[in-house]
Amino acid sequence: MEHVQACLICDTTENERPLVSQRYRGHAIWVCTACMPVVIHHPERVAHRLEALAAQEKGQED
Ligand SMILES: [Zn+2]
Repeated sequence: MEHVQACLICDTTENERPLVSQRYRGHAIWVCTACMPVVIHHPERVAHRLEALAAQEKGQED
């Protein structure tokens, strides 16, 4: 069974809303269509999510 992806920002799954694939610091991330305007116009509102992702990835490498 294929893993269901969820929006990095609001955790909405691909079963509920279309997700858009993006790249951040070399990692694939998924953002739903409702959160796309926030990412574009208010990146400061999602910065904590991206930083958490970066910290998580860094932890896995150590
Ligand atoms: Zn979302």
